[in-house]
Amino acid sequence: MTERGWCDGVVCQDDALKTLDGIMKIDSPGRFVLLHGPEGVGKRTVAEKMMSWALCSRLSENAPCGQCLGCRNFADHPDAVHLTPEKSGGKIKVADVREAAAKAFYPPVSARNRAWLINPAEALTPSSANAMLRLLEELPSKLWVVAITHNPGAVPITVRSRAIKVPFRTLDSAGLESILGESGPAANAGTMIRASLLSNPDFQRQVETWQRLIATRRYDPDAAVKFARGAKSGLSLREFMIALLALSDVASVAASLPAAYNGESQQPVAALVAALDERDVLLTAVTDLDRNVNPSFVCEDTVRRIRGIRRSLSS
Ligand SMILES: [Zn+2]
Repeated sequence: MTERGWCDGVVCQDDALKTLDGIMKIDSPGRFVLLHGPEGVGKRTVAEKMMSWALCSRLSENAPCGQCLGCRNFADHPDAVHLTPEKSGGKIKVADVREAAAKAFYPPVSARNRAWLINPAEALTPSSANAMLRLLEELPSKLWVVAITHNPGAVPITVRSRAIKVPFRTLDSAGLESILGESGPAANAGTMIRASLLSNPDFQRQVETWQRLIATRRYDPDAAVKFARGAKSGLSLREFMIALLALSDVASVAASLPAAYNGESQQPVAALVAALDERDVLLTAVTDLDRNVNPSFVCEDTVRRIRGIRRSLSS
């Protein structure tokens, strides 16, 4: 886990964060940064923190305050522009780019900077890229442009060539361990672990099989463990347990928590508790396997405990 306060929860990206530290702290007229790397490794989180950094009205010791409008909800900030397709897989509209570009040469309305988030950058068409070209060639002072892509080759070259490119890397096993070892999972832990497994060709085929298994049998622990025992995948049971952790639903349940705290629903709290309990069971299984506890015993114990958790959730 990085010690950098402005990017808590982003693991394994020390090189990228160090580069960004340098870029953000220098007294630069404007910045255009392209964060690129595999999906699910923290680019969006970092980009949002950079937006907060640009917009924060009480930046102290070079870290955003976490309290002001720029920090809490930059989407509503008058100096923020979010260039994104209307629907996933769509394109960024040239009209949106033109509108933002027209304002970019004026001083910010209330923040220290204007800040643009382009997500994903490959959604820029040649025309929308052209509409921002003059801006990128001579960045106005007080304009921060942060773009994200997992497919830099698909970003129009005119845009890509003008950016400071900051690579993000796939999580390694140390990164995975640090996520799994946290006392509470980061909101995006599931996504990050999943991305790491999926980007590893050795894991990909197995993960697809698990996803099918889990989809068809509703993540039945009996079937999962039977599968793990019978799998001729060459994976250790430990790796299988880690993959189950990756595929479990902690992150998506956690995402629905704000509604629960607002009193709209109690159900996500119970579901989150159950998901976290299951995660603990799987973590214990991994630890037991590391300690050479008999695998049959670990399997049976894991099944029994997960069944208990599911029973308590449905009762
Ligand atoms: Zn702030």
